[in-house]
Amino acid sequence: MMSKPYKRVLLKLSGEVFGGGKIGVDPAVVSNIAQQVAAVANSGVQVAIVVGGGNFFRGAELSQNGMERERADYMGMLGTVMNAIALQDFCEKAGVPTRVQSAITMTQVAEPYIPRRAVRHLEKGRVVIFGAGAGMPYFSTDTVSAQRALEIGCEALLMGKQGVDGVFDSDPKSNPSAIMFDELSYDEYLAKDLKVADAAAISLARDNDLKMVFFNLTVEGNIAKAASGEKIGTTIHR
Ligand code: UDP
Repeated sequence: MMSKPYKRVLLKLSGEVFGGGKIGVDPAVVSNIAQQVAAVANSGVQVAIVVGGGNFFRGAELSQNGMERERADYMGMLGTVMNAIALQDFCEKAGVPTRVQSAITMTQVAEPYIPRRAVRHLEKGRVVIFGAGAGMPYFSTDTVSAQRALEIGCEALLMGKQGVDGVFDSDPKSNPSAIMFDELSYDEYLAKDLKVADAAAISLARDNDLKMVFFNLTVEGNIAKAASGEKIGTTIHR
């Protein structure tokens, strides 16, 4: 059966990808992702993006090392904005107009998060990148991706991961015999206590019937495959 491209998708890019495995931003990596995103947007699919920030800071890790959790989480959120700006730059170099909307107000570098305006940008063929997560400590950018996908009416949440093909029964980086799931229900994912996305993200998707696709971002062409509805990685649905 031919796959049908989505009209509007939410792409979650984990922060790890931006640094090419290191701290900070690797321009060559971001440029490559931006070119893939631009190709998808120019093919007519409306693309909204939530960026992570794990290549800069994760609040939970900083707080384990002595920082106050809330302040550390705000640092984490600010890291996602740097990724968003880098991605905007390379998306525009790749020929697609792009807007960043931040959940923490900083109007010199990004629009505030205004959902209806985001939808309007998408309808005009612009890529919209959401930075600063939810603007609230104790949340993750995974949960925010599910929330944004729902609020702006995306048909699927495409979860791009660094170097991992999908959802496995154990960590494939430490267990070479880990088995990848083709499909899972939300409840199976939660019952197995898997860690690829946090439980809050999965339960929000479950409660609102939002399909999630986990795929390997580091394979060239995978963003286009995921956006075209082609079977790739692991699908989590009802
Ligand atoms: N964060 C937060 N609230 C949010 C989103 C993110 O406090 O709504 C903080 C949190 O500290 C998190 C960090 O920002 O660890 C980076 O986001 P995340 O860990 O989700 O990025 P990823 O793992 O996708 O790179």
